[in-house]
Amino acid sequence: MNVFEQYESNVRSYIRSFPATFVRAKGDKMWDDQGKEYIDFFAGAGALNYGHNDDGMKKAVIEYMQGDGILHSLDMGTEAKAKFLQRFQDVILKPRKMDYKMMFPGPTGTNTVESALKLARKVTGRAKVVSFTRAFHGMTLGALAITGNAFKRKGAGVSLNETIFMPYDGYTGNGINSADLLEQMLNDDGSGMDKPAAVILEVIQGEGGINACSMEWLKRIREICTEHGIIMIVDDVQAGCGRSGTFFSFEPAGIVPDMICMSKSLGGMGLPFAMTLVKPEYDKFGPGEHNGTFRGNNLAFIAAAEAMRFWENDDLAQRVQHNAAVIKERLGRIRDRFPQFAAKVKGRGFMQGLELTVAKEKGEEICAEAFKNGLILETAGPDDEVVKLLPPLILTDESLAKGLDIMEEAFAAVAE
Ligand code: PMP
Repeated sequence: MNVFEQYESNVRSYIRSFPATFVRAKGDKMWDDQGKEYIDFFAGAGALNYGHNDDGMKKAVIEYMQGDGILHSLDMGTEAKAKFLQRFQDVILKPRKMDYKMMFPGPTGTNTVESALKLARKVTGRAKVVSFTRAFHGMTLGALAITGNAFKRKGAGVSLNETIFMPYDGYTGNGINSADLLEQMLNDDGSGMDKPAAVILEVIQGEGGINACSMEWLKRIREICTEHGIIMIVDDVQAGCGRSGTFFSFEPAGIVPDMICMSKSLGGMGLPFAMTLVKPEYDKFGPGEHNGTFRGNNLAFIAAAEAMRFWENDDLAQRVQHNAAVIKERLGRIRDRFPQFAAKVKGRGFMQGLELTVAKEKGEEICAEAFKNGLILETAGPDDEVVKLLPPLILTDESLAKGLDIMEEAFAAVAE
């Protein structure tokens, strides 16, 4: 009996699709209370890029606690915070010649999105925000107002008055460049488009169905934002921390966003943590203007500082890029072997998937089948039509090969 069956009072959660009680996890694997082993192609929805219980992070956190290090301190200055600030500057920002203020808006991805929206409105004095079809930015009312999926907003009374949804790159499927469209509308007083405070986007949309925009489109959005004095916010909550194959998802475009939202794997080993990177000229919140009790989780600072070791050289990025090609190739083979799903290979890096364009409802069945055979796999997209792969970046070659085999077998079982 798993936890869900045992406690029917449990609010509906992931436990339904993963019917097991997990007791232990290490690296790219998890084990349930029956001793069954699972390969993890879900990685805490992207919060575990460095795998479960990384030895270095575990040691740093345990030592910190043994020394009675400060756990809770709101936004006070602590040694742990100073350590993280220094490490992130030295390992991530300086080598990329990036100049940002680092703000800690609370423990979740949603918190960083809310802080960026609020700050962009404050510095521009404008209210509208351009977001894109299929976007997902979080579950609070402000973040929901820029989230495409109507189901997530259902009955919540979310006002979309300040949102302008535009087609994400490739959304129309007929070659319309939505960056050109945005520019045209901004330049046309008769278009009805109010000048927005911000444009917010994911470089690879996760929850929306593993949609990756082109670097050309991204560059055009950057140019348009600069030209019109609009704050460009990249939500790198899921695609960041190396998941795309570079630390920041937008790096291949050579652009610099005005604000960057980070969370999930930033906390290193799954500890709740979020950070908003803000260009210095937009550092305009006064003291106390945007606060919260759980800013600056010191244990997360310790783990996050330790996680920086993965970025001191290019090894992990190269590994991700290499294995991403292996995944892409294999997904192509699965697509070709099962034409009944008319599947499309989507995404890049360690954020890829197969979109079922026929028999979309089979996506969940495929994941359930994979789970039976020891692979944790999830769906994405508005109809759960994308079988998505989000493995930890440290995934071994063996787990990668085995996981892909189980996935292919799951397709075969469901296709019958
Ligand atoms: N933005 C993106 C791109 C996300 O993928 C998510 C979470 N899936 C969020 C924001 C919200 O993060 P959280 O669930 O930590 O609030």
